[in-house]
Amino acid sequence: MCPMCKDPKCLVNEQPDGKLVCSCGKHSWPNSAIYAEACRKSSLTVVKTVHNWTQSL
Ligand SMILES: [Zn+2]
Ligand SMILES: [Zn+2]
Repeated sequence: MCPMCKDPKCLVNEQPDGKLVCSCGKHSWPNSAIYAEACRKSSLTVVKTVHNWTQSL
């Protein structure tokens, strides 16, 4: 799943040149390490958002 689209139907495909591109074509990463980092940052953001939302209740 693309961490930027946050759409389970948007899959990330590795290109023959090593680039990763999401299926709608809006996002791309030059290599899998940068993609992994984007996923990690994205999941941290989600956790932080949920945490803030919980606190505000
Ligand atoms: Zn995307
Ligand atoms: Zn997409």
